[in-house]
Amino acid sequence: MTNQNNFQTDLLIIGAGPAGLFAIFEAGMLKIKCHLIDTLEHIGGQCNALYPEKPIYDIPAHPKILASELIDNLAEQTKVFNPVYHLGQRADRLEKNADGSFAITTSKNNKITAKAIIIAAGCGAFGPNRPPLAKIEEYEGKSVFYSIPSKAKFADKNVVIAGGGDSAVDWAISLAEICKKLYLVHRRDKFRSSPESAERLKKLAAEGKIELVVPYQLEGIDGSDGNLSKVIVKDFQNNLREITTDYLLPFYGLAMELGPIANWGLNLNRNLIEVDASNMGTSIEGIYAIGDIANYKNKLKLILTGFNEAALACHDIYSLVFPNTPFHFEYSTSKGVS
Ligand code: FAD
Repeated sequence: MTNQNNFQTDLLIIGAGPAGLFAIFEAGMLKIKCHLIDTLEHIGGQCNALYPEKPIYDIPAHPKILASELIDNLAEQTKVFNPVYHLGQRADRLEKNADGSFAITTSKNNKITAKAIIIAAGCGAFGPNRPPLAKIEEYEGKSVFYSIPSKAKFADKNVVIAGGGDSAVDWAISLAEICKKLYLVHRRDKFRSSPESAERLKKLAAEGKIELVVPYQLEGIDGSDGNLSKVIVKDFQNNLREITTDYLLPFYGLAMELGPIANWGLNLNRNLIEVDASNMGTSIEGIYAIGDIANYKNKLKLILTGFNEAALACHDIYSLVFPNTPFHFEYSTSKGVS
């Protein structure tokens, strides 16, 4: 175990998705200092991990905005408050201290003590469903990717996408425009995508822009120094086929687990955290939940809901951080941002 690093802050936010990011802003406006933890190496939660290049149409005052752009804007809006990010690590252990504060220990052995906690953990800690291929970890992040941070990387390259759901099909359609050659490997000849996407896929396959490798499944990979040279696939008669490729993109969905949060003694309802919708407080005083993970009657799992919930939680947390200073409501237009 690595040496423990200790940190102290007013508010600890678990999850750097849109709800967690906007909570930094709301907290900052109230002079509440924040640290954030996320299992992913980058901020943005589902927006950056699952659909960075998809347009979102229901963010108020943005008729259309790419998911990655929304996250860039949130990061820009919050940076004036100097949040401290602890990325690539999971919030593992919760302790309650005698003075009422909390301490969270992460999977990288950082211990962060805070007067309040906001859990903005979405559907739980993200991790890709990895295909069971020998030595795949040696290629991950170099020539095997489970999400697409930028399409440009795949321009004029040979790419194998594996999977049969929405992500696999949508990315196959999107990357077919720029790849040298795109293969889509799936163990059935039917795809679980929307009918429109399935139709589009069929058309691109007929035009020779995508080669459908069906019904096949991944059997092995080969290459050196993290760079793939080929992917080996197998059909149900055990016939092998080798595909020369630069990249493999397995899209078998993300495993999302509530993980250790499930054992923190919170009132849960099927992996969601029950909250009081008036202030987003959980069954443990001082711990709040916002965004997709928070549950109450008529909850809408939308980004805009998470923004409002962030504001509600932070205003309630104010009295925990500044117990002797009465709260005076002010608009941002009066207060400014500093
Ligand atoms: P998330 O974005 O899920 O982020 C949670 C973060 O918490 C993750 O990064 C996770 O790694 C981290 N985390 C979890 N547990 C831990 C832990 N123990 N330790 C550390 N970190 C942890 N919504 C809309 O409003 N409009 C749309 O058009 C829209 N389109 C969508 C399209 C797709 C394909 C998908 C999948 C979703 C879409 N959504 C849309 C839903 C929207 O993305 C979610 O509502 C939103 O991301 C929820 O934000 P969040 O901050 O609550 O959680």
